[in-house]
Amino acid sequence: MLEQLKLLVKLQKLDKTLYDLTQELEAIPQRLEELSQAEEVLTSNLEQNQAVLSEIESKRKLMETENDQIQARVRKAESRLMSSKNQREYRAATAEIQEGKDTVKGNEEVLLSLMEDQEALKAQIAEIEGRLKTITADADEQKEVLSKRSAEIQTQVDKLGKNRGGLTKGIDFDLMDRYDFIRENRQGVALAPVSKGVCGVCHMRIPPQQFNELQRMDRIMDCPSCRRLIYWADAETLNGADDE
Ligand SMILES: [Zn+2]
Repeated sequence: MLEQLKLLVKLQKLDKTLYDLTQELEAIPQRLEELSQAEEVLTSNLEQNQAVLSEIESKRKLMETENDQIQARVRKAESRLMSSKNQREYRAATAEIQEGKDTVKGNEEVLLSLMEDQEALKAQIAEIEGRLKTITADADEQKEVLSKRSAEIQTQVDKLGKNRGGLTKGIDFDLMDRYDFIRENRQGVALAPVSKGVCGVCHMRIPPQQFNELQRMDRIMDCPSCRRLIYWADAETLNGADDE
């Protein structure tokens, strides 16, 4: 029984490492996704601002063209004014000149405010581009770190898997079955050390009678609270069992 326990202690140590590594490995795709999401949010924000900017630009161009056309008409009206032969022609030309000038003046005010919007947007776009550059560089770096770490973990997991195979060969089939069942349902921890009468995982006290029996180490018992397999960790005979 002592030999079985020693193997279980070693196995549990290995399995805990394996469990933690697997958890870390499984979290990597999520972290990669989060990194890409931050970039995507900023990129779409940038695209929206650029779309608004180009809308403003075309509006400005339209207005500038309109103003050029009106000013050409005003110049024509001015020459008609000079050559007007009667009151009617004179009044018509004057009215057209005034109306044209008023429209141009109104348009120019709008153009000014459009230009101000344009400047503000350009500043905003530059700011977003700066942030995006930083975020992208940072994300690229982190993605590289994560992908290296992922390969590292995979190598470790493969190595531990082989070592595990060696260890489990020496453990009784039924015991191994119980151990694996508990491990799969208890976050990778199936074996709990009991020290000074307390379960080292759930921290509940083992009833004195059961603790006495546990110290005899003639059979594998389980913790009445967390149901994990337990062993007497203060036993001198077990010293060094979990050393590599
Ligand atoms: Zn327990």
